[in-house]
Amino acid sequence: MLRRTKILATLGPATDQPGVLEGMFEAGLDFVRMNFSHGSAQDHINRANAVRELSLKTGRLVGILADLQGPKIRIARFKDTKVFLDEGQDFSLDINFDPLAGDNTQVGITYEPLALEVKPGSRLLLDDGRIVLDVVNVENMRVNCKVIVGGDLSNNKGINLLGGGLSAAALTDKDKEDIKTIAIMKCDYVAISFPRTAEDLHEARRLLVAAGCHAGIVAKVERAEALDVIDEIILASDAVMVARGDLGVEIGDANLPAVQKMLIKRTRELNRVAITATQMMESMIDNPIPTRAEVFDVANAVYDGTDVIMLSAETASGKHPIKAIEAMHRVCIEAEKQAVVRVSSHRIDQRFERVDEAIAMSTMYLANHTKVNGIAALTESGSTPLWMSRISSGIPIFAFSPHSETLGRVTLYRGVFPVLFTHDLKDHAEVNRAILAKLKKRGVAVNGDTFIITKGDLEGEQGGTNALKVVTIGEGLTP
Ligand code: PGA
Ligand code: MN
Repeated sequence: MLRRTKILATLGPATDQPGVLEGMFEAGLDFVRMNFSHGSAQDHINRANAVRELSLKTGRLVGILADLQGPKIRIARFKDTKVFLDEGQDFSLDINFDPLAGDNTQVGITYEPLALEVKPGSRLLLDDGRIVLDVVNVENMRVNCKVIVGGDLSNNKGINLLGGGLSAAALTDKDKEDIKTIAIMKCDYVAISFPRTAEDLHEARRLLVAAGCHAGIVAKVERAEALDVIDEIILASDAVMVARGDLGVEIGDANLPAVQKMLIKRTRELNRVAITATQMMESMIDNPIPTRAEVFDVANAVYDGTDVIMLSAETASGKHPIKAIEAMHRVCIEAEKQAVVRVSSHRIDQRFERVDEAIAMSTMYLANHTKVNGIAALTESGSTPLWMSRISSGIPIFAFSPHSETLGRVTLYRGVFPVLFTHDLKDHAEVNRAILAKLKKRGVAVNGDTFIITKGDLEGEQGGTNALKVVTIGEGLTP
């Protein structure tokens, strides 16, 4: 059975080990994430090359997502790498303090305006909320705090402000530099960290295009204030990441489940792609099997309608990167058998302006209401399979395209499988035969199967999809 939900795994030192990437491909990897918060530009280029080479060797198309660091606010470093903070003690964050000399009373920070953006009573969460500090007062540029929840605190841990409201622009100088590397790497998607508004995403797109990169844009929703303008943010991007790590710190963990459901639903309604990220298999950083709670988390994300589930440290620096993918795979396969993820009333009472969009919707209505084994959509830009895959269904959608950029994009869509297809045929019956031959060769179609084929005109100006044909293999169309 083909898994519809896509697995996106972060690369890192653990996946650089011999044989690991190969094992991840075999386990069903669909996309990799290059995390620009860690590693050098050269590390990322080497990893991207390794992925492209394996894709060619195995014939399994694995896409590449580059994730920019963004304005993550961090503490600087400690004299002795880490300190222990006791509940109730005083602790200060100071932009003017030596960034290498922190101790258990004070530490440097990387974010200039912090002192201007907090006030007495503000709550700061460090290291994904493991350490909690309340601001007592601000003296010059020094933020004096009381420790509410203590524990170990080590170099460079992140800082979030509860409720959000820090004003840092989404793109830092480092991000702008990294965009140049990303353009060389030919990524399929670029993720923008901590966007506050749609304008942050428009700016990122302008910079990427100027660098010659036409990757899709992923908006990481990880700031409380992004939720206030969520429709604009979704519409400014091609995909949306429910970035549960930072978002959970800003809005409080208890609010995450409802926000995840809302974000996935709205993203799909607006014809964009949803990624669910962070701690999905967290215990597998150390253990070879997931906890029951993690199994439920992955399955619930599938029920929520996510296109993609993501692995972070589980693969980048964990002990069992291959097993983490295998676990996600088996949980998805079972979750996807449930009727709730196969039926849809989405857009049932809408009218469509565009013929190609209406064809895509008609195809899904047909697929969900008769016996069809699969859909083959000939596509230039990938729009048709995107529209199709916004409708819940159990029917696989094969996106046939001659363009590698399009094939990379569609690899992220739930239920869509990329097929490289070039032809110069002028006759529709011949094209249909060529499509079915390709599906049979891939082992996803046999005689007697019924497929829906969608395409545009074959001659002259390349128009949008305007035709839908139902064919049964072996009825005059046997390749
Ligand atoms: P990160 O983003 O892994 O880059 O921090 C995801 C998240 O915050 O959940
Ligand atoms: Mn984050």
